[in-house]
Amino acid sequence: IEIFNVESIRKDFPILSEKVDGKNFLIWLDNAATTQKPKSVIDRLNYFYEHENSNVHRGAHALAARATDAYESARDKVARFLNAPSLNDIIFVRGATEAINLISQSFGKFNIQKDDEIIVSNLEHHANIVPWQLLASEVGAKIKVIPVDDSGQILLSEFERLITPRTKIVSVAHVSNALGTIVPIKEVTKIAHRYGVKVLIDGAQAISHIKVDVQDIDCDFYVFSGHKVFGPTGIGAIYGKKEVLATMYPYQGGGNMIADVTFEKTVYQEAPNKFEAGTGNIADAVGLGAAIDYVSKIGIDNIYRYEHELLEYAISKMTQISGLRLIGTAKEKTSVLSFVLDGFDTQKVGEYLTSKGIALRFGHHCAQPILRRFGVEATVRPSIAFYNTKEEIDFLVEKIKEFKNSHFR
Ligand code: PMP
Repeated sequence: IEIFNVESIRKDFPILSEKVDGKNFLIWLDNAATTQKPKSVIDRLNYFYEHENSNVHRGAHALAARATDAYESARDKVARFLNAPSLNDIIFVRGATEAINLISQSFGKFNIQKDDEIIVSNLEHHANIVPWQLLASEVGAKIKVIPVDDSGQILLSEFERLITPRTKIVSVAHVSNALGTIVPIKEVTKIAHRYGVKVLIDGAQAISHIKVDVQDIDCDFYVFSGHKVFGPTGIGAIYGKKEVLATMYPYQGGGNMIADVTFEKTVYQEAPNKFEAGTGNIADAVGLGAAIDYVSKIGIDNIYRYEHELLEYAISKMTQISGLRLIGTAKEKTSVLSFVLDGFDTQKVGEYLTSKGIALRFGHHCAQPILRRFGVEATVRPSIAFYNTKEEIDFLVEKIKEFKNSHFR
């Protein structure tokens, strides 16, 4: 696959030279859970702590200025990466989970009332289900679910049928973490907006694989986790439309987010500060900025093309294994290769593969409703990134066959 030189890219990721069993190099096929970090991100974190560390916004000393510059420049990088109109539309949070909790509370509590409706899809990660359930049970709202077809793609016509005058928000994944389905979020947004319904896109699984342009999508919110796009853990971001953020109440109260405080009354700052109470995760935000620089240098469109070829290669090899059932066969799909082996215990398959040095997940992937839609409680889930190779896929396929041959039913 001649889109870029994967061998030279792999050298940017120190951990890919790690030998987990003392002899074989790590095969990292757990990218849907988290991604590995290039040296430039690791170095940027070190540089921050060695040369820039300070709290931001407050104080006028040299390091406060450096840290503030680094933090705000990371915000600007996120804004550009998502094509957000302004860096003030970007709120730093811990990750996609905190992002969805923030929105469901800050937007939801004041815009969603008793008997109102929230729509999610059958594909969602638990992080895009449970926060809405918490809100729904607090305010007495109702959750409706967009069904999927047998390939694991959402049914747009069914979505439109679920909308009523009581529908306030639809929250769907851009890419399913369990199946890899790429959801037609632009169409979802267009339909929702026709009825005045707000749209949240959970981009946790899309951000490292697909070009995201929030102005083109026209969604009201787009959220993601930094650790899934080669950045540090503990940092993520929300893009919110300026006019929607302006109507929202703060999530948490504290320092940094206020304009003026008396015991009688507090005046809040505008977004993004309004939603960033207390000292943020400054260093990791800066690290996320470095990760975005790294991805941008390779080019997200190049990444998409490379991964698409690798995915097609993997699908063609894996579907040749008799008894292997891929779960999630949507035409539009990326990265994730969930499967079960008919007649074999999924846990055993997963344990065998990980014992051979292949890092992947087996289980319900925090997405129980969609696995149950396909009649399974668990799958084995290799998930690829642009540093994976055909040789790694070959090794995976060989080990799946080896497992089959050595384990009688
Ligand atoms: N949504 C999706 C689709 C995910 O895959 C994940 C992570 N597996 C999350 C949300 C939650 O992300 P985090 O755990 O980083 O907050």
